[in-house]
Amino acid sequence: MNKNDVINVTIDDIGIHGEGIGKVDGFPLFVKNALPGDTVRAVITKVRPKFAYAKAIEITDPSPDRVIPKCPVARQCGGCQLQELSYEKQLEFKQRTVREKLIRIGGFDPEIVDRVLEPIRGMDAPWRFRNKAQYPVASDHGRVTAGFYAGRTHHLIEQDDCLLEPAVNAKILEAVLNFVNERKIPAYDEEKGTGILRHIMIRHGFTTKEILLCLIVRKYRERDWRGLADALEGIGLTSIGFSVQPENNNVIMGHEIIPVYGKPYIEDRIGEVRYRISPKSFYQVNPAQTKVLYDLAKECAGLTGQEMLIDLYCGIGTIGLYLADSARLVRGVEVIPEAVGDARVNAELNHIENAEFMVGDAGDAFRECLKDRQGASDDLVVVVDPPRKGCSGGLLDEILKASPNRIVYVSCDPATLARDLKILCDQDYSLERVIPVDQFCHSVHVETVVLMSRADR
Ligand code: SAH
Repeated sequence: MNKNDVINVTIDDIGIHGEGIGKVDGFPLFVKNALPGDTVRAVITKVRPKFAYAKAIEITDPSPDRVIPKCPVARQCGGCQLQELSYEKQLEFKQRTVREKLIRIGGFDPEIVDRVLEPIRGMDAPWRFRNKAQYPVASDHGRVTAGFYAGRTHHLIEQDDCLLEPAVNAKILEAVLNFVNERKIPAYDEEKGTGILRHIMIRHGFTTKEILLCLIVRKYRERDWRGLADALEGIGLTSIGFSVQPENNNVIMGHEIIPVYGKPYIEDRIGEVRYRISPKSFYQVNPAQTKVLYDLAKECAGLTGQEMLIDLYCGIGTIGLYLADSARLVRGVEVIPEAVGDARVNAELNHIENAEFMVGDAGDAFRECLKDRQGASDDLVVVVDPPRKGCSGGLLDEILKASPNRIVYVSCDPATLARDLKILCDQDYSLERVIPVDQFCHSVHVETVVLMSRADR
């Protein structure tokens, strides 16, 4: 097989980036723009010793699971890798992904996996569910436009009404773009490191109806933006601010935040708990499904009011505070100091007095969390919610040493989840429940909640 060869292939799986996977004479092909069940004519784009990349040029026999995407740029845009697949099949794919990772990477017996793996919790109406959008901007013949990058590139696909975002975002984008185009404020040019406006970030508190707009700029001059709040009047923004990001790199937000209108944060509620969200705070992007996720975490933690609950990778304290009413004491650890500040404010906002938060690496700070632990391990429950790279080996060792009664693992990457579960379950823990939750509908990503308990119990 050589580059530029054209072949026919039937697709039977989906890769981690949403590409189709098919085999020709047993040789795997990763095929862009193809879905399981499709037969396509594809051109080979790159050949490696054990597999090749290809791109579909014609779908000769479309998959019965294809749907017409609602969004006109669904294929080009990097956000929704799976929008052309029916939602039901998207959920099946995510369920299968979790199962396979547990078996292949985690080394779990398929029988055990099938016993503990529950059906994925999906959404009834998987549209306009996101509370956060970061639109990169670019210059198109001198006019500033906004949208999203095409998959794994920095090529801007113009998008003025993303169907994952609230409809009002279209109005906000239009008003901001009109403003910058009238004032001739240029888009940032990442090749030259020139220009001003880099990203437009919009966040919503779905329950409070508050909206935060943050413009990320290479440099900020007050006079450039005079009149911006007036230009946006009537849309109902709660907060307008700037984030200055002068570096010529891919990091979206800068360190400095300059508030120019309203309060410098918004609030939202998940269930009964209120959270303050600053422009830079991590906050789950699908609030309806976050409630599902946190309710499951609470159920899994099985608290009786007597326990010490350790919430590792706690962000702004969301999970710990959600569970605090049924624990004796909550201790949260988070590496970003501003997030810990928000977590403390959030505890106060909710009059929660049994929650403490500390800044640090989860592995390093874990032992500190155990101080004045009462009784044996029966009173200890640990929740971890790490970023995609999963937990550090050091942290897993510390957890094993502390021997909590139950461990609840909230994960956004089934591969690192499976790797970490293997370590915990090779030692003293057994899998009790594994529940995938669809937080990122139409994308390839899947969130999972896992309950483990000590095997001797
Ligand atoms: N549980 C929170 C946040 C989860 S996101 C929620 O549901 O909202 C993961 C968090 O882990 C981020 O806030 C990130 O800043 C933090 N983090 C990343 N590496 C870390 C480390 N080594 N130690 C502690 N926290 C870390």
